Amino acid sequence: MPRLDDSRMTHAPAPHRSSLWQRLREHVLHDVLAPSHASGREMLQLLLPSGRSANIRPYIAGAITARVQLLSLVFALLVPLWAVLDLLLFEPALGLRLAGLRLASGAVFCMLVWPFPPALRHPYRQALTLLVAMLMVPPLFYLASLNFVHYASPGLSEGQRLLLHIYALLPTLSLAGLAIFPLSALETMLIATPIIAIAVFGASLSGESHRLVGYGPSLWFMAMMVGVAAFSGMGQLHYMETLMRAATLDALTGARTRRAGTEELQRLWQLAEAEDRDLGVAFFDLDHFKRINDTWGHERGDAALRMLTRQLGRSLRPTDLLVRWGGEEFIAVLPDMPASAQAEFVQRLVREGFGTHPDGTPVTVSIGLAERRADRLRNWEELVDLADHRMYAAKQAGRHRALLCDGRMLLLEPHLHGRQPHAERRKAAAGSGTPVA
Ligand code: GH3
Ligand code: MG
Ligand code: MG
Repeated sequence: MPRLDDSRMTHAPAPHRSSLWQRLREHVLHDVLAPSHASGREMLQLLLPSGRSANIRPYIAGAITARVQLLSLVFALLVPLWAVLDLLLFEPALGLRLAGLRLASGAVFCMLVWPFPPALRHPYRQALTLLVAMLMVPPLFYLASLNFVHYASPGLSEGQRLLLHIYALLPTLSLAGLAIFPLSALETMLIATPIIAIAVFGASLSGESHRLVGYGPSLWFMAMMVGVAAFSGMGQLHYMETLMRAATLDALTGARTRRAGTEELQRLWQLAEAEDRDLGVAFFDLDHFKRINDTWGHERGDAALRMLTRQLGRSLRPTDLLVRWGGEEFIAVLPDMPASAQAEFVQRLVREGFGTHPDGTPVTVSIGLAERRADRLRNWEELVDLADHRMYAAKQAGRHRALLCDGRMLLLEPHLHGRQPHAERRKAAAGSGTPVA
């Protein structure tokens, strides 16, 4: 199925239930976490990283990367500056070593500020890698500093002890930083685990964690930070998903809006071009749609559009993209679909059908298909234009047809209902068309 989810578009308030448990659950879901009525399934998606729809991921990746870059910029400036304190408070040899560590940390932060172009194939994975790299710098700095300085040494001055106490808090700083990222609860916990492990290991090396009385509060505080970060991450994720869904999915049909579809098509084009892969587009236009509106009213017209979207979705793969291009025009973006697979794709569409009119007769569409490599196209605009032109040619040839890259015009015999007028069928068969179905 494609990335459609029109059920999510309408969050009707949940019916009132009398059970205390149900009311508590709904209060947490709808009032505490977000006012947009998260469903149980959405709640699960906030807990686990899987199941997040692919159209949302690049936007979340963008937000994570931007925040990593901003924080890294601040740390790239502050961390080396702090070396002045190390040099002032510790003896020169130790101060220089700590300053060296700081410069190394600053260099990592500088690298993270670098405006990498987002990865075309796995932007989310790239964003998480950058995030983990940034968050691991402070705990690793603390761990490395343990090689040079004995934190529990009785000979330390007040100032030195103060600095070392701050360094021992660096892992906790990373845990606090986690709270500003839109992550699922599991992701937050997985990222927090090595940070806490480093903190505990460091404390055991410096002799701090031997007594629970001494180290217990630090552990408790870290656990609290992870809890806060997980809650904050889930809330941000939910708000971001709700906003992005509203901005990227067409409210009537649940297909991508033209703007969001174009952005995604651009990305898919770049990916196909970089790896020289196939990228197909099918342009659909509902036949005589105006008649549906005129005969049965606008509401029924809307219902026909929703039904068409659902039917087209049945023939698409999870990696395909369905975009509402205009009123009753849709495009399907088909990554890795070669021109040679188009006839079979059209057969699949015909088998599913395009929905029915209120009187039960089948809805028909005209389709134009184009493919990046087979048509030797230079950009995504040409790809859509060519598919549009072919759709128009299919209309001109009598409607209810698909024109493929190889020039074949296929008559789209409706599944089960063979209501195509006989004369029209004969005309199509006599032309360049090859009847399908
Ligand atoms: P053709 O077979 O040549 O494509 O004819 P057509 O009637 O489908 O095409 P035309 O472009 O003449 O009409 C498209 C109609 O779609 C006109 C417009 O009122 C209607 N329309 C556009 N958006 C919507 C919508 O969201 N809901 C409804 N009900 N109608 C819409
Ligand atoms: Mg049209
Ligand atoms: Mg039309």
